[in-house]
Amino acid sequence: MAEHREELIALDRAIGDSDHGENMDRGFQAVMEKLAQTPPETPGAALKLAAMALMSKVGGAAGPLYGTAYLRAATALGESADVDAAALAGALTAARDGIVARGKAELGDKTMVDAWSPAVEAADEVLVAGGDAVAVLAAAAEAAEVGP
Ligand SMILES: [Mg+2]
Repeated sequence: MAEHREELIALDRAIGDSDHGENMDRGFQAVMEKLAQTPPETPGAALKLAAMALMSKVGGAAGPLYGTAYLRAATALGESADVDAAALAGALTAARDGIVARGKAELGDKTMVDAWSPAVEAADEVLVAGGDAVAVLAAAAEAAEVGP
């Protein structure tokens, strides 16, 4: 987020009030501070901690949307110490579903759902094909970049 702060500010300037880069950078700095203060014991706990930091530090619509995504992903992972391909794909699906439920956006509305949904589909395809967690995540990231 720090790396893309200026890019996000420029994008938000075109359609909003130019604060998105500022907001997200502040939110993820808070996430990093909390992770350092209280190192979580599980991946799910790390995501839950991130959700809480983002909801308290990121204003506008982004805080609740990202907070919901991280919280749903945390719940999907549960108490497990390991994240395998199936758990990861499940967490991505839960995060996307949380964003859709919270934001009421559908595919094609030019929101982040247009990145999340292709990512979830790609993750599921790689999972079904027998890919490991790293392959699932790489496919999701690539599909998010490409979009619908
Ligand atoms: Mg804004």
